[in-house]
Amino acid sequence: MKNTALLALGVLACTGAAAFDASDKPDARAMRESQDQADDPPRLGSHFTREEHERRREDLEHRRERETLEDAEREARRDAKRPARTPPSPNMTYHGGKIMTTVVSKAIFWGPKWADPAFAKDKITGLDNWYTYHSGSNYAAASNEYTGSNGKVGSTGLLHLGHVIDTTKASNGAITSAILGEVCRMIPTPDPQGNGYYPVYTDVRRGRAGYCAWHSYGTCHGIPVQFGFFFDLEGDSGCDPGDNPAITGHSQGLAALANVTGHEIAEARSDPANPGAWYDPQGAENGDKCAWTFNTPYVTFSDGGKWRIQGEWSNAAYNNKTGYANLSGQKGCLDGH
Ligand SMILES: [Zn+2]
Repeated sequence: MKNTALLALGVLACTGAAAFDASDKPDARAMRESQDQADDPPRLGSHFTREEHERRREDLEHRRERETLEDAEREARRDAKRPARTPPSPNMTYHGGKIMTTVVSKAIFWGPKWADPAFAKDKITGLDNWYTYHSGSNYAAASNEYTGSNGKVGSTGLLHLGHVIDTTKASNGAITSAILGEVCRMIPTPDPQGNGYYPVYTDVRRGRAGYCAWHSYGTCHGIPVQFGFFFDLEGDSGCDPGDNPAITGHSQGLAALANVTGHEIAEARSDPANPGAWYDPQGAENGDKCAWTFNTPYVTFSDGGKWRIQGEWSNAAYNNKTGYANLSGQKGCLDGH
């Protein structure tokens, strides 16, 4: 079921993206967090907090255990009609959509606190550096294997166009179209090739939300855009990667944003839009599958900067047994060191 909707946002009009196809498996739909409102673009690849990620992982494992038990019981009853399930591959599969061959990014800092240097600290300059020197890094290359209908994910030549600051009151990320609306307001001319990625860093605290960040997609002024939403994560233990400022020189708030930034941009590049490109049977994208795992303490970007960022899933690494284990013990993560 597709329900592309027009969203009237002040004088600007943005086309909301389509909701998930009704044929999506319920599992995948749950993981991919269908929209809060019927006309909203779906939240993709939410970067769940450590606690929420663990809860979902345990749920999945319990369900698998239950299925294995059911299979054994069925076999014992010699129920020939229903063959036993073969254990599913943890790998991601391709769903027919585009990937991002390159990225043209511009960060949006939204909320009145961004005008306060005591709040902003090193976050704005730090994230500008992050995006600039992410290009050409081994970390970016960890998503290179994925192809889509428009080519292959590329990790070099990613272009960062700096940032804009909007000190009006930020929305809390619960409604994706509100974030898309902000992107359309602050980015009057998105990348005309549709390679624009616009992460929105708010000054809103997470509260009881189970996620630290998410990414989604839509159109602004008729041009497809990718975008992300980020809470203010300073001092938020559920979204803290455990960076050592003596090694990286980053404030805790910047380090927390940098880690979820790596998760979301890797997913936007490999699974940008409806009908989606690369995700697993549970709807998990390459960032989700390796969330909260750090095989190497720090990855190095092309300017020599060190960042504590989670690994990303690689089907090739899983198949070739060259990856490290995620929290479910599946060895398909690349640390991008
Ligand atoms: Zn994710």
